[in-house]
Amino acid sequence: MRIGVYPGTFDPITNGHLDIIKRASVLFDKLYVVIPSNINKKTLFSVEERVNLVKQVVKDIPNVVVDTTELLTVDYAKTVGATTLLRGLRMVSDFEYELQMAALNKSLNNNVETIFIMSSHEYSFLSSSSVKEIAAFSGEFKDFVPHPVYEALNKKLKK
Ligand code: ADP
Repeated sequence: MRIGVYPGTFDPITNGHLDIIKRASVLFDKLYVVIPSNINKKTLFSVEERVNLVKQVVKDIPNVVVDTTELLTVDYAKTVGATTLLRGLRMVSDFEYELQMAALNKSLNNNVETIFIMSSHEYSFLSSSSVKEIAAFSGEFKDFVPHPVYEALNKKLKK
């Protein structure tokens, strides 16, 4: 069975992330989308909120499981029987960080391979942080995120 793990912050999930998930879901029998709960990054949405949003957005893709973990990604992968980590690549600027993470994960567990899916061109400029920035300045961001995220972000910003 081909099992993949797509780790990320997903603060919040965008159409770019969703595109990667949909395209990867046909490459794996089971794809775990996992959100680490113990990272130091400051996020707008809590882990629970991010997990719930991802769950709502992928509910129609039967082989995608959404999860959270306190483990290192490679250790999480081991617990679910996966040896493939998946990441998305947008611009050349993603490359350096992704190369470093892939090498680091490989040194932590030599059995784990990281594979990359190139962003579809219409999402290559899209990031969670740019969506949050547009939303914070009351710009229109409806086309960049799935509907539940649009509603959640509007609600969050009204608070
Ligand atoms: P992290 O903090 O782990 O980088 P992100 O949620 O920012 O978490 O991103 C998770 C993964 O999704 C990364 O590999 C990132 O490059 C990828 N990604 C983010 N936005 C897009 C997009 N628009 N198109 C393709 N991949 C993307």
